[in-house]
Amino acid sequence: MRILIVGSGGREHALAWKLSNSPLVEKLFIAPGNGGTASLGENVDIKDDDLPRLTSFARDNEIDLVVIGPELPLVLGLSEALATANIPCFGPNAYAAQLEGSKAFAKTVMQRAGVPTADFKVFDDPEAAKIYLKHRDYPCVVKADGLAAGKGVVVAKEPAEALEAIDQMMIKQVFGAAGERVVIEDALIGEEASFLAFSDGEHIVCMPSSQDHKAIGEGDTGPNTGGMGAYSPAPILPPSDYEKTTELVIRPIIEDMAANGRPFVGVLYAGLMFTDEGPKVLEYNVRFGDPECQPLLSRLDTDLAEIMQACLDGKLDALDIRWKEETACCVVMAAEGYPGAYPKGMEITGLEEANALDTVTVFHAGTKAEDGKILSSGGRILGVTALGADLGEARKRAYEGVEKVHFDKSYFRHDIGDKGLRRQN
Ligand code: ATP
Repeated sequence: MRILIVGSGGREHALAWKLSNSPLVEKLFIAPGNGGTASLGENVDIKDDDLPRLTSFARDNEIDLVVIGPELPLVLGLSEALATANIPCFGPNAYAAQLEGSKAFAKTVMQRAGVPTADFKVFDDPEAAKIYLKHRDYPCVVKADGLAAGKGVVVAKEPAEALEAIDQMMIKQVFGAAGERVVIEDALIGEEASFLAFSDGEHIVCMPSSQDHKAIGEGDTGPNTGGMGAYSPAPILPPSDYEKTTELVIRPIIEDMAANGRPFVGVLYAGLMFTDEGPKVLEYNVRFGDPECQPLLSRLDTDLAEIMQACLDGKLDALDIRWKEETACCVVMAAEGYPGAYPKGMEITGLEEANALDTVTVFHAGTKAEDGKILSSGGRILGVTALGADLGEARKRAYEGVEKVHFDKSYFRHDIGDKGLRRQN
């Protein structure tokens, strides 16, 4: 198989790493890729949102399968563009991708499909939104409808904060068209976890649970980021609950998409809040999470190319997908200043030493290979991932890996996995 992976983050390095281990894979291309993917295949200088060039590259290079990592090309309709050119693709169609691309769409589908989620209202008019906000309970949550790179959600403690969010999103349009419509919903209280599943449009195979760490600061403080670390499994969602959670939050969505004649083929990600009333869905993503992908694929014991092919063939039910019993933990190393402004171009050393440690794999995110060196090129730079017999061991090994890696102005959280350890004990 000749495979093209679209994207450039830690998730795409993990996908390339896993696919490169498959005997079915003959050649890997990654567009645009990063300093880590360059050692596993050929990086191609095409941006992830350049649908025409991605499609013609896939056609000209006889690609057998395109694997779409990030949400933007999915929401823009890369899956359809490839289908028109008869190129197989792992990743849902643009209709299903609205589950991530439009929060109003996702909430409407959840309501229709009977999935537990916070009560909500959708507004297109800022004045109507403001009147509603003056007369409701707090805290409440204001969300820009469209993609806003993780910044489009405000959990407001009081009316002034919520009204300011409306001004920013709907009137000043800081997120452009993504904020023309907003969803206002009840705040949910609890612990978050991620639950992902493969689907071929009809059949579903869930993955083990995982937990991200979205906030930049220790103890989940400060602004949200793309994710500062993750581990799997998450003790809050034990294996004994996977089946009922699949029935509660995954199957109704897969069935709804199929009933609308637009079957969901790919990875469906449910962001869950474990409230006193049970799990409720905060959001859906229509692809692997980043960083959750790194610990999940580290635990996957079945050929990923085979799984993706089975999804395309509608034969996921015929596959026995296995996971390592061990726990995996990923600590993200970022540039100081992220998620605000941060420096780039720092040389990264110690990668070989870290990778030589038992079970440690360093996945690259914002890096590039230049003149035999690896340089930083983004805010989240590396995801140091390790396996262990339990969370304590996986976490210890991941941090041993982090200690081997050096670059100027590095920042990482020291408490990845602590919440899981506390719950476990
Ligand atoms: P964007 O579209 O900007 O990328 P996102 O997809 O990351 O945002 P969500 O996942 O819906 O947006 O929300 C981000 C975070 O905000 C959640 O992980 C959660 O911590 C918090 N959050 C969202 N909805 C609620 C809610 N109803 N109650 C409490 N917290 C919430």
